[in-house]
Amino acid sequence: MKKWLENIRRVEPYVPGEQPKDTDVIKLNTNENPYPPAPQVLEAAKSMDMNLLKLYPDPAASKLVDALAEAHGVGSAQIFPGVGSDDVLSMIFLTFFNSDKPVLFPDITYSFYSVWASVYGIPYECPALDSDFRIRAEDYYRENGGVVIANPNAPTSIYEGLDFIEDILRHNEDSVVVVDEAYIDFAGGPSAIELLPEYENLIVVRTFSKSRSMAGLRIGYAVAGEELIRALNDVKYSVNSYTLNKPAIELGAAAVKSTEYYEEITRRVVATRERAAKELAELGFECLPSGTNFLFAKHRTVPGERIFKELRDAGIYVRHFDAPRIDDYLRITVGTDEQMDKLTAFLKKYA
Ligand SMILES: *Cc1c(COP(=O)(O)O)cnc(C)c1O
Repeated sequence: MKKWLENIRRVEPYVPGEQPKDTDVIKLNTNENPYPPAPQVLEAAKSMDMNLLKLYPDPAASKLVDALAEAHGVGSAQIFPGVGSDDVLSMIFLTFFNSDKPVLFPDITYSFYSVWASVYGIPYECPALDSDFRIRAEDYYRENGGVVIANPNAPTSIYEGLDFIEDILRHNEDSVVVVDEAYIDFAGGPSAIELLPEYENLIVVRTFSKSRSMAGLRIGYAVAGEELIRALNDVKYSVNSYTLNKPAIELGAAAVKSTEYYEEITRRVVATRERAAKELAELGFECLPSGTNFLFAKHRTVPGERIFKELRDAGIYVRHFDAPRIDDYLRITVGTDEQMDKLTAFLKKYA
């Protein structure tokens, strides 16, 4: 008997979207940006002194943190950087959710939240989205150990305005409220960062993986009041001090300063999204109103899983979730116009 097996922590892991080896496929399954990082980022990569990789990186990632603080008009002590926002969110769960009361997040949202809660032994409850897949603010009026809201939400793609976020904040003065803004740059509405001066219990999480087209470098960050950021840093330095590597710090800082380029590619993604949504509607799909770089779409008659598999066989990868209420939906990342044309051409057979 291998007695030690009894002591292993058992978890049901998060399942990331597939990263196919074959580069010929049309990859619309993990919400990456179809455009390259900014020219300034590619320049910074070329001029990096790789000999310096013999040294540890700056544990505070100050160059990146200072650039982000300036861009958001906050102090550097209000920014917490991490290895993708997944790392930042994981630290947030570990740092702030130490109550016996359940942490609240919607039943349909980023599926990593329940995985972190489980691995850290945090109790949680998941109020159901309404029949239009909207979050009901009233479900978050009760006592809890914390609140996590993705806005825009994933995979529903729906963005709620600041009134909605503020409603949740006003009813949760005794909890840390996390707003995950992975897709905010595509939303066409304001960010909860505007609310930070009024709410010391608010923490906003951002990523470089989507609108900044740098998923491969793994950069994310949180913006909050100094007290929350200090607590996060205390936990981070107790787990792993050197999180961001030197290239991430350098190239991340260059990306923050390339605002115009990113605004331009974001406009392009949004224009392609609107065009694709219209075409999908003509082909018999219903799309939820998207404030993100993806469309959450369901065919009126053909099951989602069937379309998912047939697309995959044709070399077009989208995401399908085998979960209650959403198993007839496909989550389709907005690619280039050319990629979307290939997708809609294939989908004509279901019209
Ligand atoms: C993509 C995504 C993340 C994680 O992004 P990384 O920064 O790449 O770790 C977090 N939250 C939501 C809602 C996302 O869609």
